[in-house]
Amino acid sequence: MQPPTTLPSASRKAESTSTARVDEPANLNSKDLYQIVSQVGEGTFGKVYKARNVISGMNVALKKIRMEQERDGFPVTAMREIKLLQSLQHNNVIRLYEMMVSQGQVHMVFQYMDHDLTGVLGQSQFTFSDANLKSLCRQMLAGLAYLHHKGVIHRDIKGSNILINNRGELKLADFGLARFFNKRRRTDYTNRVITLWYRPPELLLGGTVYGPEVDMWSAGCIMLELFTKKPVFQGADEINQLDVLYKILGTPTSQIWPGVTDMPWYELVRPKEVLRNRFREMFNKWLSPCGLDLAEGLLTYDPAKRLTAADALKSPYFMIEKPEEQMPQGLSSLEGEWHEFEHKREREKKKKKRAEGGAPQ
Ligand code: ADP
Ligand code: MG
Repeated sequence: MQPPTTLPSASRKAESTSTARVDEPANLNSKDLYQIVSQVGEGTFGKVYKARNVISGMNVALKKIRMEQERDGFPVTAMREIKLLQSLQHNNVIRLYEMMVSQGQVHMVFQYMDHDLTGVLGQSQFTFSDANLKSLCRQMLAGLAYLHHKGVIHRDIKGSNILINNRGELKLADFGLARFFNKRRRTDYTNRVITLWYRPPELLLGGTVYGPEVDMWSAGCIMLELFTKKPVFQGADEINQLDVLYKILGTPTSQIWPGVTDMPWYELVRPKEVLRNRFREMFNKWLSPCGLDLAEGLLTYDPAKRLTAADALKSPYFMIEKPEEQMPQGLSSLEGEWHEFEHKREREKKKKKRAEGGAPQ
C-alpha cells in the first residue's frame, strides 16, 4: 500500500524533532504511519502499544488518550502530561516525539523502551550485577535531579513507570500525576498521589504541603527493590502501610522528625508501641555499606532531612565505593520484552497452569 502523501513529513518530524512537540491535529492520515506491533501496557488512562513507523522502521510507543469519560473536550490530566513532557529533555526522561490525532483518537507518540523495571525484575533469564544495579540507580537519580531542577515533581515513581531499553538506558515515564512546583513558596497539594507501596510517610500522615522529597522516598523504595527484586513495603491499605514502615524503620519520634506529632493524621494512626529501626540488619545481606547509607538517606522519615537527588548523586556509593557502575549489557539477548503487562500475563498463565495441574483427578 502506498503511504498517503502526508506521511513523509510526519515521519521526518518523529525522527528529527529535537524538542518534544505537539503536531497540528490536521495530520489525519498519520494512523497509517504507525503499524501496531503489540500491546505493552494497560493503564488507568488508556492502552499503550508498541508500533513501528512504516517509513523509518523505528519503533515507538503509542499511548492512547481515553476520551470517553470526558464531557468537556480534551482531558485536563492528559493536557498537563503533554505540557510537562514538552518542557523536558534529558537522557533519563522519556521523550515525547509528537501527538497524533486520527479518527477522533488522540495518541502520544513516545520513544520506545523494550522493558520496564517491574517487568525486568520479574523475569528470571537475566540478572543484574551489582555494577549494573549501581548504574540503574544512578540513572534514576539523574532523571529525578533533572526533574526537580526543572521544578517538576513526578508523584508516581514506581517500577512500571521506570523504563529500560536493551542498551541498558533507564528513563522515567508516566507523567500523568506530575506537576510543576513552586521552588520558593510551598503550596497545598492533594496527598492522594503516589502508589501506596512507594508513598512517603508525610503523605500517609495526611500532609498536603510537600515538595520533591516525596519522589526521593519512592526512589529509596526502588533502590531496595532493585536489589531484593520485590517491593519492600507492601502495605494492604494506608494504615497498614505505616505499620509496615514502622516494623522496618522503627516508629518516628519528634527527635528524628520534628513536627511529626503535628501531622494532620498523626493522632488517628498513632503507633501502638515503640519499635526500633531494623533497616540495616534486614538489608545488609543485599546492599554494600555505602549502598545502605544511600538507601537510608533516601528513606529518611523527616522530609526536610531526606537526601535530595543532587546530593544522592554525590554519595560515596557512586563516588568512592567499588564496583564502578556499568550499564547493563546483554538485555537484548532476553527472550521477549518485559513490561509489567507481560509480567502480569505470564504470572496469570503460571497460576492457571498450577490450578489445572493441582486439580483433583
Ligand atoms: P499509565 O498511566 O496507564 O500507567 P504509563 O505511561 O505508565 O501509563 O504506561 C503504561 C505501561 O506501558 C508502562 O508501565 C510501560 O510498561 C508501558 N510503556 C509506557 N510508555 C512506554 C514506552 N515509551 N515504551 C515502552 N513501553 C512503554
Ligand atoms: Mg504508569
